[in-house]
Amino acid sequence: MNSTETTPRPFELACPDLSAERRGNTDTAGVWHFDSGEPGRPVMLTALVHGNELCGAWALKTFLGSGLQPRRGTLTLAFCNLAAFDRFDRQDYLPSRFVDEDFNRVWSPDKLSDPGSSERRRAVEIRPWVERADWLMDFHSMSLSEVPLQMSGVQQRNIDLALKLGTPATIIADAGHAAGVRMRDYGRHGEPGENGTRSLLIECGFHGAPETRDVAIDQMARFLVEAGSVDRADVPPGWFAPDAPRQRAFKVTEAVATPSGRFRYAQPWKGLEILPAGTLIGWEDEQSVVAPYDDCVLIMPAANLRPGVTVLRLAQIVA
Ligand SMILES: [Zn+2]
Repeated sequence: MNSTETTPRPFELACPDLSAERRGNTDTAGVWHFDSGEPGRPVMLTALVHGNELCGAWALKTFLGSGLQPRRGTLTLAFCNLAAFDRFDRQDYLPSRFVDEDFNRVWSPDKLSDPGSSERRRAVEIRPWVERADWLMDFHSMSLSEVPLQMSGVQQRNIDLALKLGTPATIIADAGHAAGVRMRDYGRHGEPGENGTRSLLIECGFHGAPETRDVAIDQMARFLVEAGSVDRADVPPGWFAPDAPRQRAFKVTEAVATPSGRFRYAQPWKGLEILPAGTLIGWEDEQSVVAPYDDCVLIMPAANLRPGVTVLRLAQIVA
């Protein structure tokens, strides 16, 4: 289905009032920075990279409201694309993903040096904070998939961290998007090997599901404890969800893009379907796209198919 054929699911998650939080306590609007004064990791949590993905904003607002402070190292909280968030409309929630272009596809030197969009200008403001962070967790939500997905990227250090966190059940080792570099892959975060960085992108569920707020808060709590920013006993107990009974990891082998923007799905995929080789997935401008191998897992079918975007990704089961 493309966006014109999709019946939007109701958006039930409340929109957070960020009138206080958007000021930040730094020279960068929407950015908060806390220094424990003790040795420890520089850690960063980012929300609203996409303006209609509210769960991370709720998590950061919850942190700020709790009075919790890092016990070690530094902690930066960033409300990223506030200009897009300001356009949020629950009746028509897809357009507020961004203003001019996707904030999460501009993290390469060529785009950051060409301030031709609202998102590039904002990324340039956020960049020094990302460069400073050794550990980064970026909060997102999804159009069609319903269960939370930990997008670990391909680096083993991040897959290992995702397994250590204990939730969510599903980890996706993915290489990113043809349309541009994501923030979580920027600079040192995208380099191979053990360089001391960790970056995770948590997809907390369907954009409008109230549970995405709880998923984001649980992930925030686990990430901050694992980073050593806080001790487990510091964290309000209600922030933690139970561990997943079992975690599985899928490695993305390829992305299906739609150069034409006219991709059509053969079925209303929700994601995580496991298909035998040859199963028809859809059509890119009348060309059939089929599962290329057995136990092919469909990852995050997109709802809003514009020319050049990633339609979905295909993955093998690795753990
Ligand atoms: Zn997103």
